[in-house]
Amino acid sequence: MIFIVVLVAQVLGIVSAVDAVMTTRTSQGAIAWAVCLVTFPYIAVPAYSALQAVEACATLLEDDPVFNAGCGSVLNEDGKVEMDAAIMDGRDLSAGAVAAVDNIANPIQLARLVMTESEHVLLIAEGAMRFADHCGVGRAPENYFYTADRIEQLNEARLKHKIMLDHDGTEEDSEDQKYGTIGAIARDPAGNLAAATSTGGIVNKRMGRVGDSPIPGAGVYADNETCAVSSTGYGEDFIRTVIAKTISDFIYMKDMNAAQATQAGVQYMARKVCGRGGFIVIDRDGNCSAAYTTKKMIHGWIENGGETNVRF
Ligand code: ASP
Repeated sequence: MIFIVVLVAQVLGIVSAVDAVMTTRTSQGAIAWAVCLVTFPYIAVPAYSALQAVEACATLLEDDPVFNAGCGSVLNEDGKVEMDAAIMDGRDLSAGAVAAVDNIANPIQLARLVMTESEHVLLIAEGAMRFADHCGVGRAPENYFYTADRIEQLNEARLKHKIMLDHDGTEEDSEDQKYGTIGAIARDPAGNLAAATSTGGIVNKRMGRVGDSPIPGAGVYADNETCAVSSTGYGEDFIRTVIAKTISDFIYMKDMNAAQATQAGVQYMARKVCGRGGFIVIDRDGNCSAAYTTKKMIHGWIENGGETNVRF
């Protein structure tokens, strides 16, 4: 999976160049560049808020078929796309989320509308689609989703009679490797934190299954007093451990920083449920951290306006 930690937002002009890089869907090098280019515009000039930054990053990644979100979403047991997404604002804990939606190009934008234009936090399936119509969000055609890779991946999972993470079963450096769920967290110069997570979920999942991504406290969390978190992996493990909120609580109650809370979180998840996956964290002071129990988790960050970092 890919995760982005951004600090400050600005210069959307560069973002259109990012799109071109990201759709090359070839090597890890291209992904590294994408991470750098996506994060770069968001540092230095305080023109955009953390919330705008995470929404913009998530939107870009949803628009790229290499990731398991938006147009590149994995398929469920019926061969259908059902996407989950959430966004959270650390200023006042406001949150918006959608689950089991289809034909929506950018579920993260719909989640943001749930947050700002409805009195609810989470809308699902048909109800979420009705809300999309109400807000004038257009439907993407079926052929916008369903890439050949995704159909092949589902067939493979069906043959093995299993559900799997998008990036399961691919060789470390394979050109066919999958990049998974996407997430972005940010802190802006005013000290506001925000988080966004978007996914197609797990390959061959049951119809109607909802993962952690749209659940505040599990797949996403942001509180200006503590940190912002975005998670990826087997959603059931994150829901059961309420992992994003648990990490925030480590900071709130034990006065940990991002690195300490991330380590404590990954150990807790491994010990309690043998959880598979990871998360990215940015704390109230702008320290960035990531940890995972899977073989890898692609992520990049810029800490306090410094260098761009990318890890695979
Ligand atoms: N967490 C997502 C889910 O369970 C999947 C993933 O992150 O790859 O739906």
